[in-house]
Amino acid sequence: MRFKSINFTCKNCGAPLRFSPIEESLKCEFCQSIESIDASLEEIKEYDLSKALIELNRHHEKEINKEVKCSKCAATFTMTPYSFSSNCPYCGTPAIIDFVKEVTPESLLPFQLSQKEAKEAFRKWVGSLWFAPSKLAKFLIDDEKLKGYYLPYWTYDAKTVSDYQGQRGDIYYVTVERNIIVNGREVRQRVQEPRIRWTPVWGRVYNEFDDITIGASKTLSYTILDNLAPWYTEKLVPFNKKYLAGFTSEEYTIGLDNGFELAKVKMNRVIRQSVRQDIGGDQQQITSLKTSYYDTSYKNVLFPIWTAQFRWKNRTYNYAINAQTGKVSGERPYSWIKIALVAITLSIAIGGAIYIDEHPQAIEKASKFLHLLSVNFS
Ligand SMILES: [Zn+2]
Ligand SMILES: [Zn+2]
Repeated sequence: MRFKSINFTCKNCGAPLRFSPIEESLKCEFCQSIESIDASLEEIKEYDLSKALIELNRHHEKEINKEVKCSKCAATFTMTPYSFSSNCPYCGTPAIIDFVKEVTPESLLPFQLSQKEAKEAFRKWVGSLWFAPSKLAKFLIDDEKLKGYYLPYWTYDAKTVSDYQGQRGDIYYVTVERNIIVNGREVRQRVQEPRIRWTPVWGRVYNEFDDITIGASKTLSYTILDNLAPWYTEKLVPFNKKYLAGFTSEEYTIGLDNGFELAKVKMNRVIRQSVRQDIGGDQQQITSLKTSYYDTSYKNVLFPIWTAQFRWKNRTYNYAINAQTGKVSGERPYSWIKIALVAITLSIAIGGAIYIDEHPQAIEKASKFLHLLSVNFS
């Protein structure tokens, strides 16, 4: 299918404009002119989930490759079925097209971190990694090209009522007689020992959830997307194509229904915590838990992410940076040499503890040794 693309041009020199996170505006790369984006006061709506799930089941969306004609150089290129903005591969001009999905994003979080700031956040993250190969940090900073994406997320609100059954465990102490070794001799002594008393319990807990966020793209793994949280959704602004200029944007590939199943898993963790609190005591067992959801609503939003891949010893690693907060999430290689060295050092330290006890000067030697390890072997 053929799509017409749009882009925004500089009023001063006619060159294409891109969104600049630093100015929070569109910016011309040639004459540096800034075009601000009008702040919209439009309310960001949330929609009834149960109604939408019934309606969406009636439609089946086909996946089509999108042929796009660049509005600047007139070349034709293909966007993936779920993309709706990217840059022309021939001239680099931003190209934004229409949505094809039933549910479209009505709000987004604009990019806050520039590519440079994202690289800096990433460099710090690599530096903070335990057991990462030391050459990694340098390797990454040199070759890396970060790509800016607006990826789709679902946010869900819900109220829940959960009925549970379980056991409450209370610890109490009993006095018992035991044989104990004192100075190499066995003596009989009275000691306190803990016991646990289990009582059957049941009850009901209520929870309320606001903006549970679920990544709706398959471009990055669910784990990477999920680890980018938290997102501060109070900063959402009404959707405007101008924010997309220069970035790749995607529509959802994980549906509203599947997204809600993932949200239930997240809500369930919180609900179980509430149940444990409700049970009280020192320990809790939950034997049955039934939850009903009501007042459920959703919205479809776009979140800004810088991402890249790197190859390290024949494997590809993906990572991403939350372009609102700078939080990094990613796959990472381990240096087995570093891990082995720490394991050896630890066993020396533990084995040497008795020796050190009697020879205080050994502590100094040991700490020098540890210091050498951390400096030299990397
Ligand atoms: Zn210009
Ligand atoms: Zn072009």
